[in-house]
Amino acid sequence: MLGTLNLDQHVYIYGAGFAGLSLAYRLKKLGTPFTLYEKEKVGGKISTKLTEYGPVESAASTLYMNAKAENFIQELGLPYLDAQKKLKRWIYKEDGMISPFSLALLTKLFFKMGKHFPSVTESSSVEDIFLPLLGRKYVEELLSPALQGIYGAQAQELHFLSLFPFAQERKFSSYYSFIKFFKSEIKKEAAQKIKGSISFKGGMQTLINRLHEEVKDHIQPLPDNFILKPNTAICTNASDAAQLLEAFEPEIARLLNNIEYRPMTTMSFFMEEEIPELNKSFGMLIPQKYGGPILGIIHQSEVFPSNYSAHCYSVVCKGIVTEEAIFKELKQKFPHLEISNILEHSLKAWETGLPLYNEKRFKAINQIKHVLEEKPGIVLFGNYTDGISLRSMIEKTSSLK
Ligand SMILES: Cc1cc2nc3c(=O)[nH]c(=O)nc-3n(C[C@H](O)[C@H](O)[C@H](O)COP(=O)(O)OP(=O)(O)OC[C@H]3O[C@@H](n4cnc5c(N)ncnc54)[C@H](O)[C@@H]3O)c2cc1C
Repeated sequence: MLGTLNLDQHVYIYGAGFAGLSLAYRLKKLGTPFTLYEKEKVGGKISTKLTEYGPVESAASTLYMNAKAENFIQELGLPYLDAQKKLKRWIYKEDGMISPFSLALLTKLFFKMGKHFPSVTESSSVEDIFLPLLGRKYVEELLSPALQGIYGAQAQELHFLSLFPFAQERKFSSYYSFIKFFKSEIKKEAAQKIKGSISFKGGMQTLINRLHEEVKDHIQPLPDNFILKPNTAICTNASDAAQLLEAFEPEIARLLNNIEYRPMTTMSFFMEEEIPELNKSFGMLIPQKYGGPILGIIHQSEVFPSNYSAHCYSVVCKGIVTEEAIFKELKQKFPHLEISNILEHSLKAWETGLPLYNEKRFKAINQIKHVLEEKPGIVLFGNYTDGISLRSMIEKTSSLK
């Protein structure tokens, strides 16, 4: 969250995606009066289409838990579905799929842990830091696919300090000391009962509906003209925030326009028969060296079986992609897959799918923070400010006092 609000006065929130909704919910809890304005649809990117075979998500399909997320869900009194544990995770290889944690990798890591930790600069990418440890092969075949699964971007595109902010204040002598510190930071977090990821009966829309229910009395129709009133929180994506602020805060608008987004497409499909290669697995990540648009496939019906009456797979792609291109790559990866046996499918494309956590974003955010120090009563909040996941947004709003 960039900037500060006066929580003793009325707050004007623009945008009722997950960021705006979680902020509004927190203000309600704190007893702060607020108005929530939404341009299109409450829930923003998150929505669930219910089909006879189970839910289809348009963006987030899970909420990854920590203690704050657990409190949030318990406070809402929402029954949840635990993701199945112990599912296999696969990485695609041309000559068959591999498990990400092979013996060869673990042996390599064991012997290289004592290696000198590279010096971190303001422009270090995640690849710069982990290449000496993992080598090119494992960066391409393991680290980048795993990061693509979260950030929609590869190790060389992602900014190290944005993903590991604690490394800004500390120096590490070896990879071992880095990992040890990282683990100790995680251990410091409050204990939690719900581990891993969760979803809900009826999918993520259930969470949105519950939040909507809490704040609906504060939702007002969007005024024709935007006026930047004191104590305004803009909870849209960076480019929409820039548009709103252009006439009032042109410097902030200019900086917001430096934040880049990755277009993304997601397609979910249902089948009676299973894709055998994905049996008992969470799904599969695909290294980009294989050239297709698909970044990964989530086996939704294996992760949350009680939500589904047929096998459900969600394919996540970089860029705006047609269903023909997705089917073509699926057929190439799984030659036995009969496209004609697909019972139902649904495609959703996002021009501003995910913000790119690159150096440009890092610099823009730091400069905006600096400008906003002099301008209390303006807040910017969304998946480009504090972290890409819903959990990061909950963490941020829960700590408002
Ligand atoms: C394919 C995909 C899969 C994902 N999977 C996961 C996952 O499994 N788990 C997870 O934690 N995260 C996941 N994410 C990320 C997560 O879905 C997003 O980070 C989150 O939904 C973004 O919420 P937001 O409120 O920041 O933005 P948005 O959802 O974009 O909401 C912004 C809102 O602002 C409104 N708005 C715009 N302009 C104005 C205006 N002028 N006035 C008023 N309102 C305005 C918009 O209409 C919109 O409703 C995924 C994202 C994608 C794309």
